[in-house]
Amino acid sequence: MQRQLDIIPVSEWGFFDESIPPLVIAGPCSAESELQVMMTAKGLHDFGIHVFRAGIWKPRTHPGSFEGVGVEGLRWLQKVKREYGMKVCTEVAGEKHVYECMKYGVDMVWIGARTTANPFMVQEIADALRDTDIPVLVKNPVNPDLDLWIGALERLNRAGIRKLGVVHRGFSTTQKIPYRNLPGWQMAVELRTLFPNLPFFADPSHMGGSRQYLKELSQRAMDLGLDGIMIESHCDPSCALSDAKQQIVPSDLKVLLESLTVRQKCTNDREYNENIEQLRTRIDVIDENLLISLGSRMEVSRKIGEFKKAHNIAIVQAQRWDEILSDMIEKGKHYGLSEHFITTFFNAIHDASVAEQNKILEG
Ligand code: PEP
Ligand code: MN
Repeated sequence: MQRQLDIIPVSEWGFFDESIPPLVIAGPCSAESELQVMMTAKGLHDFGIHVFRAGIWKPRTHPGSFEGVGVEGLRWLQKVKREYGMKVCTEVAGEKHVYECMKYGVDMVWIGARTTANPFMVQEIADALRDTDIPVLVKNPVNPDLDLWIGALERLNRAGIRKLGVVHRGFSTTQKIPYRNLPGWQMAVELRTLFPNLPFFADPSHMGGSRQYLKELSQRAMDLGLDGIMIESHCDPSCALSDAKQQIVPSDLKVLLESLTVRQKCTNDREYNENIEQLRTRIDVIDENLLISLGSRMEVSRKIGEFKKAHNIAIVQAQRWDEILSDMIEKGKHYGLSEHFITTFFNAIHDASVAEQNKILEG
């Protein structure tokens, strides 16, 4: 089914200075104190950031962790608006949050990853936002389910919300990866292709989970032609009450933003999809996923090696491998992959795996 969203372009929201891309939303993971909020906002405002984020109610994994300052923090956001003329935004996870935000003049809200995964809550938020005019950003659901993400956008749109955007923050995974969340960029590409005019942000902070990945993830977002980034910045990250490892001081954010290469945008959809840079980036993303899969495979293979050692079983079981390989050749045809390619590729994987298991046996 052809999905449709009736949206107002980000250029008409009056939030961002589009003359210097990317669009940036920055601010602390959480509002912690008036001083922290004001100092961070000042640092960001000083180099031209117009949109300030801060979590007021925080969805935490464990009870007893810092769960946000609540309504009091909304007064600090009001002060940021007053003193620096910035637009302010926060996360809402239910109708009560929406009503409080309206009361305190919050300019934009976002729906967090855990909430997007819950259609009941999204519907409740959409109903509470009916008849308001504020933009709503929808983060991807924690699980990589594109339909769930689109469904959330549709619920909001049906409630009359036309200033809609999305934030890609990656997905929960059991795979061993360097990042906090699996980037899963291919889903961003799919959504972008379906809705080329939907304002699209990446969140390198929650995706990477660590300062060290902010630059590469932000650059990747630019290479994929996304519109902007939502990034966490704190005046003193070492003291942050949540997500301390992934926040950077405003002056470091300035340096990071200046280091980004922003790709030329193509307005025409066809051109957009066939842009060589973006196709190359898609290949890079797929290669990275292959690496992750190969790493997971090797890990399982090592476990098998340990198991074989403990039970004194021979490493190479030729017949089993022959069966697997012919099965792969058959399946490979379905994907347009030749017998020669499949044989070479899987034999290389198998050889590396056997070598690793031999090491374990000898060790
Ligand atoms: C956040 O932006 O502070 C946040 C909690 O993000 P997410 O919903 O992506 O985990
Ligand atoms: Mn955070």
